[in-house]
Amino acid sequence: MPENREDRSQQIPYRSESDGDLEAVVSLWDLDLKLLDSSKKFKEHVGLAFRGEVTLWEAYPALAKPAFAALIRLVIDTREPHTIRLDDPRRGKRNILASYIQAGLLIMETNAVALNGSLTSEHNERARLIHQATHDALTGLPNRRQFSAALAQLLPANGKMGPALMQLDLDDFKPVNDTLGHGAGDIVLKLAAERIKEALGRGGTVYRLAGDEFAIIQAGPQRAFEAEQLADTLVAEFKKPFTVNGIALFVGVSVGIAIAPRDGNEGEQLMKAADVALYAAKKEGRRRARTFDPAMLIVVEQRELLRRSLRVALQRDEFFIEYQPLVEPSSTVVGFEALLRWRHPTLGIIPPAAFIPMAEADGLMREIGQWMLEEACREALAWPEHYTLAVNLSPAEFLTSGLTDRISQTLDIVGFPAERLELEITEGVLLERTTNNLDTLNTLNVLGIQISLDDFGTEYSSLSYLKNFPFDTIKIDRYFIRDLLQDTKSQTIVRSVIGLAHGLDMRVTAEGVETPQQAAWLRDEGCDRLQGYCISPPLSADRLGEFIRQGARTQSAATFDEFRAGQ
Ligand code: C2E
Ligand code: CA
Ligand code: CA
Repeated sequence: MPENREDRSQQIPYRSESDGDLEAVVSLWDLDLKLLDSSKKFKEHVGLAFRGEVTLWEAYPALAKPAFAALIRLVIDTREPHTIRLDDPRRGKRNILASYIQAGLLIMETNAVALNGSLTSEHNERARLIHQATHDALTGLPNRRQFSAALAQLLPANGKMGPALMQLDLDDFKPVNDTLGHGAGDIVLKLAAERIKEALGRGGTVYRLAGDEFAIIQAGPQRAFEAEQLADTLVAEFKKPFTVNGIALFVGVSVGIAIAPRDGNEGEQLMKAADVALYAAKKEGRRRARTFDPAMLIVVEQRELLRRSLRVALQRDEFFIEYQPLVEPSSTVVGFEALLRWRHPTLGIIPPAAFIPMAEADGLMREIGQWMLEEACREALAWPEHYTLAVNLSPAEFLTSGLTDRISQTLDIVGFPAERLELEITEGVLLERTTNNLDTLNTLNVLGIQISLDDFGTEYSSLSYLKNFPFDTIKIDRYFIRDLLQDTKSQTIVRSVIGLAHGLDMRVTAEGVETPQQAAWLRDEGCDRLQGYCISPPLSADRLGEFIRQGARTQSAATFDEFRAGQ
């Protein structure tokens, strides 16, 4: 036992014995004994030139003595405060150094005064430093450091029911940040923090871990279903828009739940379980909550496998394209939309919704998109000349520089006329109303390329886009077509969009047309083009040739049934 160890029953408050000079010499350390923050006086006191990382031993060399070092360890391990008497040869004084743990931080303080005494400037200083080190400046929520400390403390030691941990991740936050700017992103984060706090009430504590990631700890014994109920409330709350600078933004939340000790009884293990559950929630379509289940681990491994093989898919020639016809209501085919497919060597055909977000996140989409455009143009050269080719552009591609040059070069190299190319973009791309976006679209327009606004009605549907950007076509999202015949609201919306587009001199395409009745309704309302299983599902290049040779015409449900039968 260290000889300098003070009586264990001695608790804060401490009072300096050295002199009457009550200036706060406070320093905050993480539990690896690295300096996090300190008062001004501390810097003077230790006389260190602060450059880079500072360890406790550098600041207080005298503490490196084994006896003192052991005492510090004891403070950390037992969370009980201790005082250490240190000689300060530089000043010829003796200092009493109080060492204690608060909010998961090691605090060293000389000339400490009563913690529960009157509010003095030293108290304010200490409180401010502690608050700063344990809270997130933007949202005011406790930060990751406090989260880890709280989690470690709350985990039950004896296998009893423990706390529930939730990991939250905002859906569609990145596009807000990327397109509306960080200022808007910050507002969304603040509003999101408020919304979570309100929904939680006294049912738990929310922490901001990083970026758009939050965590909630529900202390005490928790049963899964209670945590799930709370998570569902959160998800529902995030279905309401956030208003930022007058724009309504839809930023949802996905939640992963893990319960101790069932899903892990160490902080790290529980975090991993919640993370896996969060990933499952995202994968199942986001804006939902999932509770950890060991079977989910397999999915994570598959994701890693997929991610690794996606990087080499292009070189290995694993992508191919299917084409889905676009027809006029009279059944005349006007063109085809190119849809990307990936034939994975062992997992089979993977739909774009599964791998495009991954490719975007890994920065692969530009290269894949370039391949897609070139390949589709080459294949389309073999079609009769009056057919157009529609290609989707992902936001990640649209926002890269030199897009218009790359497109016009590709058209030149392949020898495909710009007038036959149609690019489909979604509203998310246009959120940033910069001249840049407008320039890109105008340049494409001048080149003779047609532009379609894809998935209209699902995202922001801001009418100002329609006024400001040169679209040739609006594609009404299949969400409104699905229940067209049963739901009068969908009818009203579709009718209005058709009127709106025509008033602005744009064409309207309805996507996801699955029945001849829907097709008939849309034709009667003056919709210009139809696309969907009712006309034809996406076709491989071979079957497309057949489709064209047969003198392509609307074949009602027959094509789809035949297609399914052939699969
Ligand atoms: P999208 O642009 O809205 O494409 C239409 C999607 O609807 C296609 O799914 C198509 O197979 C499906 N679909 C067509 N007719 C019907 C129907 O009658 N009913 C229903 N329920 N669905 C129908 P797919 O091919 O899985 O593509 C999904 C999304 O992936 C596309 O949505 C598009 O956003 C993206 N995507 C596909 N290919 C590319 C590409 O080359 N580049 C980029 N950036 N995105 C692509
Ligand atoms: Ca599309
Ligand atoms: Ca679409």
